[in-house]
Amino acid sequence: MKEDSDPCTGDIPLIIVEGFLSTSGSVAWSPLRRYVGGYENMLGDRKVMIASVGPVSSLHDRACELYYTIKGGTVDYGAEHARQSGHKRYGRHHPTGLYPIWSPSNPLHFLGHSIGGATIMKLQHLLSIGFFGQDTHTDMLLSVTTVSCPFRGTQIVYALGERTDSAPAVRPFSVGSILAKAVHVLSYISPLLPKALDLHADSRALSYQECSLTSFLRHLWRSSWAEGRDATPFDVTFEAADERDANDEGHCNPNTYYTSYTAFFTNRVSSENGKHSPPITNIRIPPLYFSARSIGSFDFESLVPQPSFLPDHRTALDDFALVKPGILRRASQDAELSEHYWANDGVVPVFSQWHPRECAETRCIHHESSPASAPLPSPRLRQHPEKRLLEPGVWNVYTLEDTHHLSVLPLWVGSSCQQNFWSDLGDFLNNIDSQQLDV
Ligand SMILES: [Zn+2]
Ligand SMILES: [Zn+2]
Repeated sequence: MKEDSDPCTGDIPLIIVEGFLSTSGSVAWSPLRRYVGGYENMLGDRKVMIASVGPVSSLHDRACELYYTIKGGTVDYGAEHARQSGHKRYGRHHPTGLYPIWSPSNPLHFLGHSIGGATIMKLQHLLSIGFFGQDTHTDMLLSVTTVSCPFRGTQIVYALGERTDSAPAVRPFSVGSILAKAVHVLSYISPLLPKALDLHADSRALSYQECSLTSFLRHLWRSSWAEGRDATPFDVTFEAADERDANDEGHCNPNTYYTSYTAFFTNRVSSENGKHSPPITNIRIPPLYFSARSIGSFDFESLVPQPSFLPDHRTALDDFALVKPGILRRASQDAELSEHYWANDGVVPVFSQWHPRECAETRCIHHESSPASAPLPSPRLRQHPEKRLLEPGVWNVYTLEDTHHLSVLPLWVGSSCQQNFWSDLGDFLNNIDSQQLDV
């Protein structure tokens, strides 16, 4: 690696993929880029592009939209997928892609917040099976960085309305049910709405221009989209995560650099079990406070089918008693779940934010946790001041304490936590680019 390499030389662009319900590309990010400077100052001259994908769509649909948003062309969800899911095969047409020369020899860096991270890993899977043609390859993803990503599901989806015994069915009058109705109303009137409320529902023909009033009312009564398997809510269940594992998804590509940032702001409430609860001071952010309580006290035994981590991957609770969430220690097979299944950032439990698949089934390094309020240098620099050679094909897991689901992304407020994160990311990407130039 070059010791004095120019960080502006050979900068490979960064694609940002947003999370659930986020159509904020033009709302939350762009004005801040223009008027505050914010995170862009941390990335030097690197080009940063925000990919707009369906805010409530399934991982498969989002990954397809991500691919064509970058490459350009008409979104093709695949004939078999469209048949199974009951929507059109083709979606939106992108006359110009964000980076049309994207290829194995012109790869990109990726950053995903929340389900944006899982979308990137679904894209990697589709590239690995040649879904977009034989000229593609997983090497098109030079790096993947995720923040608060529910790789392995999250129990919040059940609190919001998904039935614990028969997902993807949704409980009537639940938050999820109301949300589904709102999505259908917005989709129905979508031709009249501003771009910021773009739901990317083109393939589902839900607008008043394509959908009759009777069909619209039927969707309001019971949504075949929200209560189907081809939507975000089901994709973040533990059942769907297990299906992805069984489908051989989520493996590391040997030439891609992986980093995940794990956030949590809850504390263990008892030595008797691994349950967690947020400090009462966090009641100033009510939705996250109450969702963190719900996630922190969830009963995994109530799930049908049972998630794979319950019977087969139990770790000794006592072995985790003296360590903080984020520091992994393998333990015996016959005890209770560790507290990492309840520690959370208000939306996703810690264990799910690490990486896809069990630790034993992937390559990963879990670094020590660090307070989000710590001054610069950033966590990575503090732990690797010598700028060691980066290793691809391995998940580097970093934990940020006292950090909730929205502390780092997507809204830039200039906190020390955010400055640390972007500084760390800028340094990470520069190091990778330097290594690429040296090859
Ligand atoms: Zn679909
Ligand atoms: Zn791991």
